[in-house]
This record gives sequence, structure tokens and C-alpha cells, in this order.
Amino acid sequence: EDGDGDAEDDGLASSVSDHANKHDEIWADTTAYSKPHGWCQLPDGNWALVKILSNSSEHSPICLLQGKLLRLNSETLLPANPDILNGVDDLMQLSYLNEPSVLYNLQYRYSQNMIYTKAGPVLVAINPFKKIANLYGNSYIQAYRSKSLESPHVYAIADTALREMIRDEINQSIIISGESGAGKTETAKIAMQYLAALGGGSGIEYEVLQTNPILEAFGNAKTLRNDNSSRFGKLIEIHFSTTGKISGAQIQTFLLEKSRVVQCAKGERSYHIFYQLCAGAPIPLREDYKYLKQGNCFEVTGINDIERFHDVKNALNVVRISDEVQEKIFGILASVLWLGNVSFTVIDNENHIQVVTDEAVHTVAKLIGCDAVDLKLALETRKMKVGNDHIIQKLTLSQAIDTRDALAKSLYSSLFQWLVEQINISLGSGKRCTGRSISILDIYGFESFEKNSFEQFCINYANERLQQHFNRHLFKLEQEEYIQDGIDWANVEFEDNKDCLSLFERKPLGLLSILDEESIFPNGTDLTFANKLRQHLSYNSCFRGERGNIFNINHYAGEVSYDASCFLEKNRDLLHMDSIQLLARCTHELLKIFSSKILLMSEKILNLSSRRSSGPDSPKCSVATKFKRQLFQLMQRLENTTPHFIRCIKPNNSQLPSTYEQGLVLQQLKCCGVLEVVRISRSGYPTRMSHHKFARRYGFLLLESVVATHDPLSVSIAILRQFDLSPEMYQVGYTKLFFRTGQIGILEDTRNRTL
Ligand code: ADP
Ligand code: MG
Repeated sequence: EDGDGDAEDDGLASSVSDHANKHDEIWADTTAYSKPHGWCQLPDGNWALVKILSNSSEHSPICLLQGKLLRLNSETLLPANPDILNGVDDLMQLSYLNEPSVLYNLQYRYSQNMIYTKAGPVLVAINPFKKIANLYGNSYIQAYRSKSLESPHVYAIADTALREMIRDEINQSIIISGESGAGKTETAKIAMQYLAALGGGSGIEYEVLQTNPILEAFGNAKTLRNDNSSRFGKLIEIHFSTTGKISGAQIQTFLLEKSRVVQCAKGERSYHIFYQLCAGAPIPLREDYKYLKQGNCFEVTGINDIERFHDVKNALNVVRISDEVQEKIFGILASVLWLGNVSFTVIDNENHIQVVTDEAVHTVAKLIGCDAVDLKLALETRKMKVGNDHIIQKLTLSQAIDTRDALAKSLYSSLFQWLVEQINISLGSGKRCTGRSISILDIYGFESFEKNSFEQFCINYANERLQQHFNRHLFKLEQEEYIQDGIDWANVEFEDNKDCLSLFERKPLGLLSILDEESIFPNGTDLTFANKLRQHLSYNSCFRGERGNIFNINHYAGEVSYDASCFLEKNRDLLHMDSIQLLARCTHELLKIFSSKILLMSEKILNLSSRRSSGPDSPKCSVATKFKRQLFQLMQRLENTTPHFIRCIKPNNSQLPSTYEQGLVLQQLKCCGVLEVVRISRSGYPTRMSHHKFARRYGFLLLESVVATHDPLSVSIAILRQFDLSPEMYQVGYTKLFFRTGQIGILEDTRNRTL
């Protein structure tokens, strides 16, 4: 028997292999489907729809489309949904919720340009990688507002947020997540457009929208995954007056990738603004800048840097940054580019260097407003305090390059931070907000590459927190609500990531604490850091120490292998005192502001490392700690809002339209918990209404008048009896009625007819 089964499996593998690359066509050809059918997994992991000819015995003979007969073990076969459920707009409506059915439903819709699908309370958005006609714009905004259109859409989510903000007087949040290139930033903009269109009037909404081109120019870059990849996380809190009009906004950014300013991979670019600034110049001139030359990529198809530059200048004007100040900003950008061209010559056999006195040094000095001699000195030497004496140490080639690059990175990130502050001033964040707000979070999703560094470490940590928030809201609160209201509810298990979070956050022996400790320890290196992790954290099942600098973390979305190289340096992110002092002496106005801020940060770290005895609560300003603080603030803010979740999905890795890779989509659906949500929502009672509200809303439909003294509960039950709702379809809680999906529809229809 067993041998027989194996042979059949082999037979399947060989006979379907020639279909494997045809599966797209099989999937697209829906006319050929007739009941009964099922899903079988092809050797390449994709699922194919098969017609079941007979299902009588343990082995179902089946027929793959295109005519090949096969015997299949019935356990390898999953049921498929009836044709009438093809492309339903909420996955919860599917009768069978197995993976291939969910994947197929999304693909079916995607192939017809229906990129949005609900998964219970979550909106799934699949990146079309092309402009879709008849989906966005004013008439669609109005249609969603008036509810004449109700198919899943970002507009519908924004509309719900707006309504609930006004109705419940609670702040709202729209939390957008997904991999790089999945469409988060575009989705955030679409939501902002909806809110601006409906909350407009004062003119401030235009200003809010104009922050996008600025932040994208300074914070986005072409990467191998996305031509317009945001290299920072962003929360924009849009304020509304009590009448529902936009009254201002406030932007918070997270963790700008500053290393990109001084280095980027082949085929990638530095920040767009640099290319926009140079766009007028012929390519050979642009290639003169070493920082830009490394990526060997100057133009991006579909991006017109010259046009974009005009948009950015216009947007800067809108947020009240004058032409004069804009010139100062561009001056700093130019100084960063010229810094990259500053070169060194080795002057002795200890690898000490001297700055080459050329156009680059002189131009940087002129742009930042300092003496070329001072600039050279800051790049060639370092003042050290030994006991009570100051000594001057000559820098080696690698030290000098690091010093130069650190200065460039610091200039750029200070500029970015300052710009955000200016935007916030213009958007009136200083004013007290009297009304309510809707926050939109566009933050990098979970990342797992071949080599994962400090940036992925922070990003994935943030995603663990966000995942916990997601879980808490969708699952825990859901269950608690059932239990609190005393209704029958078999507990549904869901993934809990608290072990992983505690691995990061535990004090004093968690990833972040050990990292900070090692960062201020004079003899600390990346290796001693990795060793300490192995020594102290191996008890946690989410941690696996490897050799050398390598350690693994078991995240909710999968295991990621990190390389601790440069962790300490990136975490300290120190600019040497010589460089800070140089900036403080510069005549460029903005640099004075920047230098005082950098100084404040650095002092905290330097003080800490010179007085290591200081307690655990002393202010640490390492990058990881600052990020953790921001993250906690963010979570606190989100906790006080009603969240709306949008999960963006990237259907292929090549930014191509009409290309849907099942495996890739499935992996993302798993990572962001969409499959879990569908399962849980469906097994529960997603629609609920208080007895009071229910009685008020439908009470007048009662044929027999229930006496006014009757409490809402009795009225509610009378309504349910009159409408003969099946007892499996609802539950009566202490304070609320809970319904399965679709039940309220019948009541609403009658109500609308009667009204
Ligand atoms: P993420 O922010 O998740 O990294 P983006 O929002 O930058 O991804 O999207 C990447 C690219 O995908 C965009 O530049 C755009 O070309 C395309 N894209 C994303 N969403 C849409 C959409 N709704 N319609 C058309 N194209 C889109
Ligand atoms: Mg983005």
C-alpha cells in the first residue's frame, strides 16, 4: 500500500512538472472550472486547481486541467471554493479559507485590477506597479464619502477613520505595513489625499500634502527593491478641528539611514535630492562626486529629477521656507558632496595622512563658512585629553576617512531633522490642538536579507512591537470583549511574541542593554558584544548564538541572522569633538544650530563613558536607546487611538505589473498575520451592537409593541425573535449583541424599506 502511494506521488511530481511553468495560465483560465474541484500543490510549491472526477475511495482520481489524469492522495488535496465565490471582496466570505483559496482569491481580484481586498478588519493592498484607471481622484472620494461605492479601498478606510473620530470622539490611526516596495508610502499618500479632500477648506490641507515631495526628496532613494524607497519611518498626525476640518499636522520621523549618504550599493542611489540638485549638469560633471559615483546609477526610469526639483522648491515655499534659506540648504547638500571628494595622502610609514589641498577642501570650507586650514586640521588630527594634558594625535588613513564620512553623515541627518522641525512649525504643531487627530504610520516592514546589520536589527525590533500591537488589538481585545460580555467563546490561540520582545528589552540582560553597555565600555568591540550575547541570552528560545560576530533572532516573521560588525560604532554614532567644534565655528547659520544639538547628544554619551559608575537610569543617547524611546512614545500614542490596519503586499520582486508570485505573496500574508486574522474573525462574531443601540435602531420594527418600561435587552430579544434569526448566528452578551457576518444586513434592509 505504502509503496503504491509513494509511486503515485512520484508520478504526480513527474507528470505535473511540465505544467509547473504554465500554472499562471491555469489559474487565469477560470471558465474551465466546474465543481467539484480542489487544490493540489505542484512540485514548485505553487497550487493548481484540479477537477475531482471521483472522490469515492481513499485515493481520489483527479484530473489536472489540460487533460492529464492523475491519482492523488486525498490528504494532499485541499477543497476549493465554489465559482460563485470567485473574487469576493472580503476573504471572510470564503467558505474554505485554506492558503490556496486565499491566494487564489487575491490573485483573481488582482488580475482584474481590484488591488484592494478586506481580510476581516484588515485591508490588504497588492501593489499593481502600474497606474490603475478609475480608482482614485475626486469623484471616487465623493463616491466613498456618500457610500455609493463600498468596495474595499484605502478611501473606505480613511472614511471609517474620519467617521469614527467624529462619532466616538477618539483619535484614530491608520497603520500601514509591508515590505520595502509593497506600496506603503503610496497608500499613505492616498489616505492623506482623502482626508485632505474632505477636511479641506482652510488651505492647510495643501500644505500637509506638500510635505510629501519634500520628505521624499530628502529621505527616499532608489534601492534594488524600490525606485522610491523611503529610508526612514514616518508618523504624520493630522489634526482636525471640532467641525472636522484639517487644522494642522505634525510629523515624526524614525531612524533615517544615514550611511547611504557616504556609501551605496551598485545600482542604488543616494538620496534623490542630490541628483535633483545636479540634474541640470551633464553626467560627466555629476560623476565628479565620489559619493554619487559609487552606485553608478544617475538616472532612474520614470523619475525626472529636474521636474522633481521644481516640485520640491515649490513645496519648500509652501511650508514657508524662503528662497534665501533654501539656498542655505542647498549649500549644505553641496558641501556634503564635496566632502566626499576630499582626499588624503599617506605621509609616513605609520599610515598617517595629510589632506590633499585641492578644490574639494576649499569648496567645502567656503560652503560651510570656515577656514580651509581649520577644516584640514579637523580631518587630519584629533585632540585627546590624557590626564590633565591635551595632546594632538595624527589620524591614519582609515581614521581620517571615517572622520570625513561621519561629518558628511552628520551634516545630512542634522539637515533632515531640522527640515522636519521647520515643516512642523509651519504646520502649526506648536499650537494647541483642540480637536481630534488621525495618525498615519508608514514604517518599514520586517526585513531579512543575506546580511543583516544594525539597521535591520532596529527595524525588526520595531516590527515586533508593532506586531504585538496588532495582535493585541485584533485578537486579545476581541477575545476579551467576548469574555467580558459573558458569551460562549472557545479561546482561539494566536502567536504571541512576548519572548522575542523581552529578548530585546529586558534589563539589564537584554539585547539593547547589552549593546548600550558594550558601546560605552572602553574595550568593547563587536566581537565582545556578540560574545556577551551568547553568554547571557542563550536561555531565551528566540536567541541562537553562532560563531564570531553572528547571532540569530527568531522573529515572529521568521529567523534572521545578524552580523554584529559595526554595531557598536553605529549605535554610538559619535561625531568627534574636533568636528563638532569645527561646525560650531562655521559662519553658516544652520550649522551653528546643528552643532549645538549634536553637542548635546554627544556630551551625554561622553559623560556616561567617563563616569561608567553612573546608574542604569542615566540618560543614554545611543541610537538604539533613542530609537527605543521613540518607539515607546509611538506605541503609547497608538494605544490611545482606534487603529485601522492596512497590509501592503508586493506581488513580485521585479516591480512588474500583472505578475503575481504565489510563494512570495503567501510568505507576506503569513508575516503580517493576515491568514490568522481571517481565521479568527470568521470563527467569531465580528458584528456587535449594544442592546441599547440595537433596541433604539430596530425597536420600531416590532409588530407587537413592547411596553416602554421594558429594558433594551428585552426589546432586543423580541426583535431577534420576530426576525427569526438562527441561534447560531448571534449571541447575547451582558451589554451587547454579537453577530456572525452578514446578519445585520437583513435588519438594515427592512429598516431602510420601512423608513
Ligand atoms: P514602500 O513604501 O512600501 O516601500 P512604495 O509606496 O514606495 O513602497 O511603492 C513602490 C512603488 O510601487 C511606487 O513607486 C509605485 O510605482 C508603485 N505603487 C505602489 N502603490 C501603488 C498604487 N496604489 N498604484 C500604482 N502604483 C503603486
Ligand atoms: Mg516607502
